[in-house]
Amino acid sequence: MNDYIPLSMLNDFIFCPYSIYLHSVYMESDEDLYKATPQIKGTIAHHSVDEKKSSTRRSDIMSLPVYCDELGISGKIDVYKQDKHLLIERKNNLKRIFRGQIYQLWGQYFCLKEMGYEVEQLAFYEISTNKMIPIDLPGELGKQELIGFIEQLKRYAPASSTIQINPNKCIHCIYCNLCDKTNTDNVYT
Ligand code: SF4
Repeated sequence: MNDYIPLSMLNDFIFCPYSIYLHSVYMESDEDLYKATPQIKGTIAHHSVDEKKSSTRRSDIMSLPVYCDELGISGKIDVYKQDKHLLIERKNNLKRIFRGQIYQLWGQYFCLKEMGYEVEQLAFYEISTNKMIPIDLPGELGKQELIGFIEQLKRYAPASSTIQINPNKCIHCIYCNLCDKTNTDNVYT
């Protein structure tokens, strides 16, 4: 895998490695085929960013495509507040913040840094509660952790890797209905 790793894949890989294989198989398909409710809501939340309706502040940069050659990752940021040097990722609900979501935000951070932007603060913004949740900058340790994780993701081979099937995850997985590793339906159907 020599291409840039999509930032969204960092979170998916932690949730279930096999899901990134399914994503690559079905990403060209009709989105309605596999997108379940939570992801559709997330997509709508991001659309408001993509369409630049979420903020009228001139100093805010939204939906900027980003990349980082050093880490081999690319994607889009949600909101970068230039006046505060603050990078924000919007989520509908954040009952719990998963490591993969942190990696995604760190990835955006390293992309922006490599592209010459100053970033001094990171945060998630929970739309449902209108709450800002600050996240620590990764530092050198975090960077090495992220690099190690990306290497692990690049080495993943679905055919030769065994995965632990966790039914509790499967029923919340957007690929559940398309996945050959389980016969259960997800909770969204
Ligand atoms: S349905 Fe289960 S095994 Fe299949 S990709 Fe989703 S979480 Fe993984």
